[in-house]
Amino acid sequence: ESADVVVLGAGPAGLVLGNLLMAAGVECVVLERATRSHIRTRARAGFLAPNTVRILDRHGLADGLHRGGRSHGTCEFRTADGGFRLDYGGLGRGEQHTVYPQQNLVSDLLERYEDDGGRIRFSTEAFAVHDTDSARPYVTTRDPDGRPVRWDARYVAGCDGRHGAARRSLPPDAVRHHHDHGVSWLGLLAQAPPSLDAVGYAVHDRGFAGHMARGPHVTRYYLQCRRGSPADAWSEERIWDELDLRMRAEEYGPLRRGPIIERGVVDLACDVVEPLRHGSLLLAGDAASLTAPAAAKGANLAVLEADLLAGALAEALRRDDGAALDRYSAQSLAYIWRAQEFTQWMTGLLHALPGQDRSGGSFFHAGLRHARLDSLRTSRAHQDWFAENYVGV
Ligand code: FAD
Repeated sequence: ESADVVVLGAGPAGLVLGNLLMAAGVECVVLERATRSHIRTRARAGFLAPNTVRILDRHGLADGLHRGGRSHGTCEFRTADGGFRLDYGGLGRGEQHTVYPQQNLVSDLLERYEDDGGRIRFSTEAFAVHDTDSARPYVTTRDPDGRPVRWDARYVAGCDGRHGAARRSLPPDAVRHHHDHGVSWLGLLAQAPPSLDAVGYAVHDRGFAGHMARGPHVTRYYLQCRRGSPADAWSEERIWDELDLRMRAEEYGPLRRGPIIERGVVDLACDVVEPLRHGSLLLAGDAASLTAPAAAKGANLAVLEADLLAGALAEALRRDDGAALDRYSAQSLAYIWRAQEFTQWMTGLLHALPGQDRSGGSFFHAGLRHARLDSLRTSRAHQDWFAENYVGV
């Protein structure tokens, strides 16, 4: 089988790319390891940046999020020294998030791609990308009977996340900058209405807790947990008690409880692959760079990079010249490093990182965190900086 561009992965990056390539008249096929129903129901991100909405709007891909999304522009910090709210939607550039679950966005993108006649194969895992240093790379998969299948391409777009075939197929000279923050979160999805009308960040001696609305009946919570602790180590009662404690229910009132419908442990780590072009293999989304979830940048970077990559691939194919692809790499990396820098700052704001906790005897870092929060509470210039970076990519 063959296509000008073989796209690996049907997440936000792969499906935005597929749609934009189709619109540009580029022949492509998307290969996805999971089933259709899995990608349509996989709950992950929810906070879309204004630039993400602008990109989707520009390409006529935002109808669903305009119908079902909700503007959001407030976050609330709860600390031992009292709480404060930041109406970030009215600070910085005056921009807000749109809350729209990632699985809904993926479903919209898939529907549009298929309605326009796009080719996609589900339950098709790419094993490797071959001959990336040539003008005729190919991808290997298997058919339902286990027989090998070869997909010839002009370019391969690796949008298959951090554990995908694209990363495994990188040449030895590809550099992967990796940083482990050393903390972990128990990520929870509760069948319960939001408990506050803001994103909630609780900075507590027992560890971080977070609250993010996903819809009227579903809320995402995070609890910092010990590295290596299994997701099922916590009973539902213990989860809610701990959330109440860290979110300071005594002061603010108890959280609205409900069944925990999904849970998983996320180790907060980040990395950047450099460059994003390796001959005829291009990386986008989590395959290009992983950001810790503290600042909610991952899905937004994925859409931004897919937009840039679609333009670069169309130009490279039209002119038979890969210069646009080198520019794609340089341009995307500038955005990626900005997002990484803010995520690093945010992670340091919300946690005692390893070696910084009070039990380790270090009050110094707790003092720095306190000063950072105090500055954010009182300095309009700092608040503007926060707002601009928080909603930006
Ligand atoms: P993915 O969405 O991971 O898609 C990759 C696709 O490739 C998958 O469908 C996978 O099945 C497929 N695949 C993998 N390997 C192969 C293979 N070998 N062959 C074929 N297909 C393959 N980001 C935000 O911006 N805001 C948030 O609020 C936010 N919250 C998050 C909460 C959680 C719990 C998690 C886990 C992530 C969150 N993120 C958030 C990050 C965001 O979900 C990711 O950054 C985003 O999904 C990246 O999109 P992608 O298309 O690059 O990768």
